[in-house]
Amino acid sequence: MEAIGRRQVIALAGVGAMSVLAGCRAVSAAPPVTPVVVPASSAPAPTLPASVVYRMGNSFIPGALAKRRDLHSLTSKWSVLVGDISLPDLQDCQMYVDTAIPMIEKLTGIHLDQKYLVMLPKTAAEYEHWSGDRGDDLGVFREPLDETWQGWVVIKCAAAIGEGRTLLEDTGYLNHVIRHELFHANTLDDGVSGYGTPKWVLEGFAEWAGATATILFPRKPPLPVLPKNAEFSREGTTFAYERSFMFVSYLVTRFGQRQAIRFYERAIDFTYDTTEQAFHAVLGISLATATKDWAAQYKKQVARLYAEILGT
Ligand SMILES: [Zn+2]
Repeated sequence: MEAIGRRQVIALAGVGAMSVLAGCRAVSAAPPVTPVVVPASSAPAPTLPASVVYRMGNSFIPGALAKRRDLHSLTSKWSVLVGDISLPDLQDCQMYVDTAIPMIEKLTGIHLDQKYLVMLPKTAAEYEHWSGDRGDDLGVFREPLDETWQGWVVIKCAAAIGEGRTLLEDTGYLNHVIRHELFHANTLDDGVSGYGTPKWVLEGFAEWAGATATILFPRKPPLPVLPKNAEFSREGTTFAYERSFMFVSYLVTRFGQRQAIRFYERAIDFTYDTTEQAFHAVLGISLATATKDWAAQYKKQVARLYAEILGT
């Protein structure tokens, strides 16, 4: 999975330059969640309701999108979903999204006042159009330019994920990607957090939040070395996401979920200090020592992961 987390400046027609963190793909501490029942009254209108267009307008110029007559939208307490996938598929996605959001908000302690905006295009071409992402990502979170805008998540429903299946057809994988992107949306929504933070922090925590076991871990384990930012663009050969996931999982096991999240929150606050300083300040040992300790137990950690994946 070539998920790429990258900050770049892009231009969208009519929007101007926007700062963007394009992310990729995908914890659990589940408060009781009531399944979302979509009442008949919220069945989709052929055109998007004004409130949804307004919300999208706070994120990007809806332009042609707002005039499309084949889009569905669903609004709940937590989220606004917009897509041209079928209504039953959109309803399923709403349930995944609305299950994930309270879990993630409980995990991070961050509650967003606005509803999360999640876009679900049916085709790869629509995905490119709605996300501005032409890479191999399975999803992105578009960071807002500033606090007056809203970020939005786009999921690449049509992505081929092997065995002739699309992402939309694989519930486990789809949930992983949705949770990963919603973790970005929850923690990076001010358009400032995460600036300059190493990708292993941003993507490692998002991967950890997305699943208890990463589904794509290779048969031959990659070396236990923290990936550099550039390695995320060569994900297929470097397994940058998987290595970041393994280190973050190690931190959670060693220091506890709360401390690990405290480190993450300090690390994405660029007004603070370096990642190394944040690490030492919160966790009490140096990052260099922690990575050595991680490498020393890596074989056992990998064995546990395989056992979890294989269910043995
Ligand atoms: Zn990501």
